[in-house]
Amino acid sequence: GKVILNGEMMERSEAVIDMEDRGYQFGDGVYEVIRVYDGNLFTGEEHIERLFASAGKIKLDIPFSRDKVLSLARQLVKENGVKLGTVYMQVTRGTASRSHIFPDPSRTKGVFSAYTTEAPRPEKALENGVAAITEDDIRWLRCDIKSLNLLPNVLAKQEASGQGCYEAILHRSGTITEGSSSNVYIVKDGTVITHPATNLILNGITRQVTLKLCAENNIPFSEKEYSLEELRQADEVFLTSTTSEIMPIVKVDGRQVGEGIPGPVTRKLQLLFQEELNK
Ligand code: PLP
Repeated sequence: GKVILNGEMMERSEAVIDMEDRGYQFGDGVYEVIRVYDGNLFTGEEHIERLFASAGKIKLDIPFSRDKVLSLARQLVKENGVKLGTVYMQVTRGTASRSHIFPDPSRTKGVFSAYTTEAPRPEKALENGVAAITEDDIRWLRCDIKSLNLLPNVLAKQEASGQGCYEAILHRSGTITEGSSSNVYIVKDGTVITHPATNLILNGITRQVTLKLCAENNIPFSEKEYSLEELRQADEVFLTSTTSEIMPIVKVDGRQVGEGIPGPVTRKLQLLFQEELNK
């Protein structure tokens, strides 16, 4: 398929990234993953807004406007004929001889790249729910930035996968923050609870959609800290992300959540999310 490197569409085999690209050497860049449903970007503007916000937080100048990035993403989806899949895009601080110090912005431009994937919805998992483990959150203190540095997330997800689980739920000294690549929620006595959007989590676009759906449908919710112990005592647990949507978690560290099946609040939110996609 085709990819975009800087402003240009080309065959993937023709795209060249330099050995001294700062994304490659330092993880010095930011990224986004946008879902494609029926050939259309879902919440595309929100993702691009967050890409620019992440870039701003690391003082990285994206060499295109928001509108240009959005139209490049749309063109790529169309060109590759993607109906159900994703667009991955990232921007690095560019190519310069290796030094921690930022390169001179008058000589080095950010490197923008994007490609698409075909990706089905995880239907079976959405129906039956998944298992998770809990892990120490060993990340830095700017988890609000969607940066390319994902080593702690990779290690946590690998640990989950090795134990036959779908996700690692992270906690800082017993306070649940989020998943290795998702936001995490508990339901207690009908109220949806999730960590507030501080520097300790990524404010997921799917999280924002989910909380909006709660607000619009009189589902009580609270953005507040909750503990590992509250996770263990929860009536329901679920996670959200661009690719996982609203995913029930029915087992945590080998123990059943509630009855061990997706709960009614999670199911209701899944239905509302489906309606949102059909709009
Ligand atoms: N938290 C982390 C650490 C993530 O990597 C992701 C996305 O993959 C999310 C949360 C969910 O964000 P979104 O709903 O925007 O995909």
